Amino acid sequence: MSKQSSRGPAWEALRQAVLERDGYTCAYCGREATTADHVTPKAQGGRDELSNLVAACLPCNSKKQDRVLIRNAGFNPRWLDSLW
Ligand SMILES: [Zn+2]
Repeated sequence: MSKQSSRGPAWEALRQAVLERDGYTCAYCGREATTADHVTPKAQGGRDELSNLVAACLPCNSKKQDRVLIRNAGFNPRWLDSLW
């Protein structure tokens, strides 16, 4: 079983349910969310279920999953401060 096996129609339905539950708002930065992120990573035993998923925007989701900082020239972290 590869990691990719979780990305099918079932995952899409789950992702949609999480986004609707959280109002399409990223749990990390409050911006518009388009993905679902595992609270407990699958690598640490987290499951594909609503209680273990939160809505997340793509930058926050990729930042967490890959532990790689987003190197996007158009992204300025100070924008996040101004939101609060
Ligand atoms: Zn975010």
